[in-house]
Amino acid sequence: MTDYEAVIGIETHVELMTDSKMFCGCPVKFGEPPNTTTCPVCLGLPGALPVPNSEAIEGILQIGTALGCQVADTSFFHRKNYFYPDLPKNYQISQYDVPICHDGEIQVEVDGEDTKIGITRVHMEEDTGKSIHVGGGGRIHDAEYSLLDFNRSGVPLVEIVTEPDIRSAEQARAYGAELQRIVRTLGVSDARLEEGSMRFDANVSIRPAGAAELGTRAEVKNVNSLRSLQRAVAFEIHRQIELVESGGVVVQETRHWNEDSGKTTSMRSKEESEDYRYFQEPDLVPIEVSAAWRDAVREALPELPAARRARYQGLGVDARVAAVLVGSEDAIGDLFEGAMNAGGDGRLIGNWLSGEAVAWSRAEEVAIGDTPLVPAHLVELAEMVGDSTLSASAAKQVLAGVLAGEGTPGEVAESRDLIQISDSSVIEAEVDAVLAGHADAVASIQAGDNKPFGFLVGQVMRATGGKADPKQVSDLIRAKTGG
Ligand code: ADP
Ligand code: MG
Ligand code: ZN
Repeated sequence: MTDYEAVIGIETHVELMTDSKMFCGCPVKFGEPPNTTTCPVCLGLPGALPVPNSEAIEGILQIGTALGCQVADTSFFHRKNYFYPDLPKNYQISQYDVPICHDGEIQVEVDGEDTKIGITRVHMEEDTGKSIHVGGGGRIHDAEYSLLDFNRSGVPLVEIVTEPDIRSAEQARAYGAELQRIVRTLGVSDARLEEGSMRFDANVSIRPAGAAELGTRAEVKNVNSLRSLQRAVAFEIHRQIELVESGGVVVQETRHWNEDSGKTTSMRSKEESEDYRYFQEPDLVPIEVSAAWRDAVREALPELPAARRARYQGLGVDARVAAVLVGSEDAIGDLFEGAMNAGGDGRLIGNWLSGEAVAWSRAEEVAIGDTPLVPAHLVELAEMVGDSTLSASAAKQVLAGVLAGEGTPGEVAESRDLIQISDSSVIEAEVDAVLAGHADAVASIQAGDNKPFGFLVGQVMRATGGKADPKQVSDLIRAKTGG
């Protein structure tokens, strides 16, 4: 059997959260009554003229710069011509051969392996209106009728296109997740997949492993979450391999991901770019970006996720923990940041947040941001471990108590009776009692067989309800048995 390699390239659309639309003054607002945030420009009425939104250009420059792209001094708007009911002008203003940003990259990590995904281009366009298919399954082919809402028409849209550098469904997901984090860090979009402010199209092909040429691709649409992106790509790779193995050929087409069946189905044969009759937009001047503007954007960029992970690793946090702190819930990152600013121990606090806190939050189904936990608690808890007031395992129990609203770490440690016994005479008395009760174990150790040593330590820990300092216990047993 041939070994196949998957090749994937992703096109991502991101709606920018600007005050107004791309070419008119209508507000960009979600959830308004249908067709209330429209005007002659975004409805494509005859004679209406577009005026570009500089805030949107600023937003795309931020995205392109964050992705390490080159910024074109001069780029152009083009008309992409096609008919669809949600596109009242019968063309979408987009960019074609000269995009505003090009040649960047995103690095993704899967199972400890880093891969660079090239960014071919980042270009500016406008969104279309929305068709709402009523009746049937909510899709056009079995709908009773369709409604049109032009509120989204003309919302600034950024398209980010990768090189065909992705090799697995896991990498596709990691790419999508990192791009989403970058866009959210910049604050230019809320990048919500379920709501469509971020949308992925995955181009998937296969080829015999080691082949130089690309295979024929299928483009998969309608993936509404990172999980579906991974599932859809995995399904499509599998489908193509099975097809080719059974003597079939992959055709170039657009396929629809169906979340419920977990399958992709053919939608239409793929259009070629010639079909769109692109030509330069006569109503708009080129986009000119001065060196000063480009540099100002670069200098004002916030700390990006990759840099933030590296900074956390510099604080003693390991790579997987750093990925969790930067990756998931904002609240976790904010708590960690706050605790670091207050001088907390990075390694301990990072491990607690990514380990116990995440596990607690899943088990209790309470978001960490909705608990009383604040950075000062984490710092206090780390100090209690540092000065041996709490053992490492007791600290985890205290954290759970704080998350559950039982009070500050000091209060929880008291009320749950978890404070370590620091009085060495108390510990010594417990050690003596255990040694007296296990004379044969002591004898074995004294005869040179150290195996029972851990057992004896365990017995003392048990006798003290886990509150003795294990190191102190070991030291005492060693001194008394010669183990
Ligand atoms: P369009 O889909 O608009 O025609 P492109 O031809 O530029 O645009 O390709 C879009 C995406 O498809 C890019 O991300 C590119 O990397 C990817 N791609 C192109 N050819 C292949 C292929 N044979 N297999 C997988 N992905 C591909
Ligand atoms: Mg495409
Ligand atoms: Zn408008």
